[in-house]
Amino acid sequence: MPNIVFHQVNKRFDERADRHVFRDLNLHIRKGEFTVLVGPSGCGKSTLLRMIAGLEPVSGGELSFDELRVNELPPVKRGVAMVFQNYALYAHMTVYDNIGFGLKIAGLSKAERHALILDAARQLQLEELLQRKPTQLSGGQRQRVAIGRAIVRKPTAFLFDEPLSNLDANLRAQMRAEIAELHRKHGVTTVYVTHDQVEAMTLADRIVVLSRHGLEQFGTPDELFDTPANLFVAGFMGSHRMNLVPVDEPHAPLLQLLTGQSPAALAAAGIGTIGARPEDIELSDGSAASVQLVERLGAESLVHLTVASSPAPLCALSNDRSIAFGQGRAVRMPSHKLHRFDPEGNRIAP
Ligand code: ADP
Ligand code: MG
Repeated sequence: MPNIVFHQVNKRFDERADRHVFRDLNLHIRKGEFTVLVGPSGCGKSTLLRMIAGLEPVSGGELSFDELRVNELPPVKRGVAMVFQNYALYAHMTVYDNIGFGLKIAGLSKAERHALILDAARQLQLEELLQRKPTQLSGGQRQRVAIGRAIVRKPTAFLFDEPLSNLDANLRAQMRAEIAELHRKHGVTTVYVTHDQVEAMTLADRIVVLSRHGLEQFGTPDELFDTPANLFVAGFMGSHRMNLVPVDEPHAPLLQLLTGQSPAALAAAGIGTIGARPEDIELSDGSAASVQLVERLGAESLVHLTVASSPAPLCALSNDRSIAFGQGRAVRMPSHKLHRFDPEGNRIAP
C-alpha cells in the first residue's frame, strides 16, 4: 500500500493554452489514511483522482507511489480501484458477474473468483441479490455492487468520486458508515471526493481543500475547523457557514459587539476580516441585536440577527425554542474563539 505523492504537478487539458487545472501541486497522501478531497465544482477534484488512477495524464512534475514514478504507468499496472457516482455497472450482467468481471479479465480461475465474490457479497450484504441485474436494484444496492467490484480486486488504493451523491439522506448515512467500517477493517489508502461537509468531517483522517487556485489547506478535520488557513477554507468548511465580517466603517456596530473594538483599532492590528462560527456565538436576554429570521433545524435553530445598521446579518446557532422574529437578544462571543484574518485573507495566529 503506497503513499501517493504529487511533486510540483501541473495539469492542463489544452497543451497550447496557459489555463492550468493544477500548477505546481505538492501533496503527500499518506498510506493507509482516509483522505477526503473537497472544493467547489470545477476545481479539479475528479481530475486529481483520475491522475492517480492513470486515466488522465500528468502534464508536468512527478506523481509517485512511494518511490516509484507512475507518470507513465498504465492504469492496470497501478493497482488502484475507482468507484464513481453513477456506479458504471454492466446492465446486462448479474450482480455476481459485475463483481467478478475485473477478476475474470485478470485471469483468475472460476473457483478463485467464486470465493472472492462471495466474500465481498457477504461484507456488503449482497448475498441475496447475486443473481439480479442492476435494473432490479435500488440505488444503494447498486452502489454496493460498485464497491464490491472494487474490493474484490484487493487494490492498493481506493478512489471514490462522489460515490453517495445519488442516494437519499438515510441511505447516505448508512453507506457512509459502511465505507468507514471497510476502511477500518482493511486500512487501504483511500482518496474520497465529496461535496458533503458531514461526509468529509466524519470519514476523513485528513481533508484536502481545493479551490480554483489550487490547494488551500491540507489537515485533519479538527485543524480545518479550528484553524482555517484562510478566508476560503473558513467560509467553506463547517455545516454552518462562518460569519465573516469585513473590518470597515459600515460594519462598526457588529465588530464592536463581537470584538469590543472599533474598525480603526482592528485595522491598526493588521486585521482585515473577523470570523465567528455560529456555534460559538452565545445569545441571551437583551436588545443589542434583533432577530430577523429563524431557521429551525430540529434540536437547534440558525438565528439571523441584525445589529444596528450593519449591512450583513450575524448568524448564531441556538437551542432556544422560544426565539422568534422581531425579538431582541444580547450577543456574546468568547474572544478566544474569534478568527482573525489579514487583509490578504490569511489567518493571523493569536
Ligand atoms: P470537479 O471534479 O472538481 O468538479 P473536474 O476535475 O471535473 O472538477 O474539472 C476541473 C476543470 O477541468 C474544469 O474546469 C473542467 O471544465 C476541466 N476539464 C475536466 N475534464 C476536462 C476535459 N476532458 N477536457 C477539457 N477540460 C476538462
Ligand atoms: Mg467531479
